[in-house]
Amino acid sequence: MKLIFHGAAREVGRSCIEIQTHGDRYLLDCGVKFCTHGYKYPDKVFDVPKIDGVLISHAHLDHTGALPFMEHYNLVCPIFLTHETLAITKILLKDSYKIAHVKHLHPAWGKRDLKEVQKDAHRVSYNRWYKHRHLKFMFLNAGHIPGSAMILCEAEGKRILYTGDFNTRTTRLMEPANGEQIKNEHGPIDIFITESTYGHRKLPPRKGLEQTFVQEIKKVLQRGGSVLVPVFALGRSQEILIMLADEDFGCPIYFDGMCKEITRKILANRSDYVINKDKLHKMLFERVELISSQERRMQIAQQQPAIFVTTSGMMQGGPAVGYIKHMWHDPKNAVFLTGYQVEGTNGRHLIDEGYVHIDGWKTPVKCEVKKFDFSGHADIEDIKKTIWQIEPETLIIQHGDEESVTNMLAWAKKETPFKVYGPELGDEIEL
Ligand SMILES: [Zn+2]
Repeated sequence: MKLIFHGAAREVGRSCIEIQTHGDRYLLDCGVKFCTHGYKYPDKVFDVPKIDGVLISHAHLDHTGALPFMEHYNLVCPIFLTHETLAITKILLKDSYKIAHVKHLHPAWGKRDLKEVQKDAHRVSYNRWYKHRHLKFMFLNAGHIPGSAMILCEAEGKRILYTGDFNTRTTRLMEPANGEQIKNEHGPIDIFITESTYGHRKLPPRKGLEQTFVQEIKKVLQRGGSVLVPVFALGRSQEILIMLADEDFGCPIYFDGMCKEITRKILANRSDYVINKDKLHKMLFERVELISSQERRMQIAQQQPAIFVTTSGMMQGGPAVGYIKHMWHDPKNAVFLTGYQVEGTNGRHLIDEGYVHIDGWKTPVKCEVKKFDFSGHADIEDIKKTIWQIEPETLIIQHGDEESVTNMLAWAKKETPFKVYGPELGDEIEL
């Protein structure tokens, strides 16, 4: 058996690992990487029509965004993914097509390829063995976002566990992944391929962070200001709504952007492992005002006090930019970022240097700015704990930047008896 790393090798983005076994070829994930001037697709995936199967861990574009690109090069095999992942992936891919065309980014694939993705999609349930040609596989809860899965594969008598992105802490939205349970029910695991997004960092305890978040919102409202809460459409926006559900803020809460459609999808689907659906339902249909017209946006953008929960999470586009346009000058207002901010984004500029680009103008933001590290990923301690629970023979560390992977590698080589790899782009591992 051979593994080839076409992406997410000492980087975050374009996740894509090829498994070669019995002359068959399978891809674990098929993502895209966003760069300042366009995209990077998985590297050197040759002979696309000869791929025998694609298995998708979850809907985020860094795990799915290259599917239409592969379709463009005549992918003909089934794409296996959970019901929720398919439902959400359709929305995200359609949106990424729209954005690409607005920004003239030339995504190298067309609308027809999007349809092909849907045609090839095979929906799978959690916790059930499937067999396709020479590969047996099972999807297990990853705790990251609705529909997310760790993928357990069996070929040549070996068991591979691929984490995709995972979280071992309960959030307001998701039941956590559980390494110990996986080991007990499906072990022993021969090869463990883990993400390492936070392989260099500890994240703050969730509960305290949530309390601070709510208290800080209340402070802003009390002084007569409004709060802009930029959110990622998938996962974070639903979590934030559930966090706000238990509180009475005495002001309107507005919900705007693609998060509306995705929240509806999550509520409409079975969404295994999603918790607090009743609260989410109540928020979406009773407590928040859903904003979809530019006219209404203009009416409410200067309102005080108010809470605006809106995409995009890094303020790179979406209604968030429209709201900040009317809020930046007033120190009574606040912007509370709710997740990781990639370098070069408006959100990162705001947190590091106090400005954002509005309509091309570099604007110094006078309102209060805070970042809350809500994360859908395991942190360094969670990853280490999961590695010990799984106790694999071979450990492969990927989906982390150079610093994270190097850090995890050094730890694993020193502290564990496992055979350890931190593959670089294009590396092949013979097992
Ligand atoms: Zn993800």
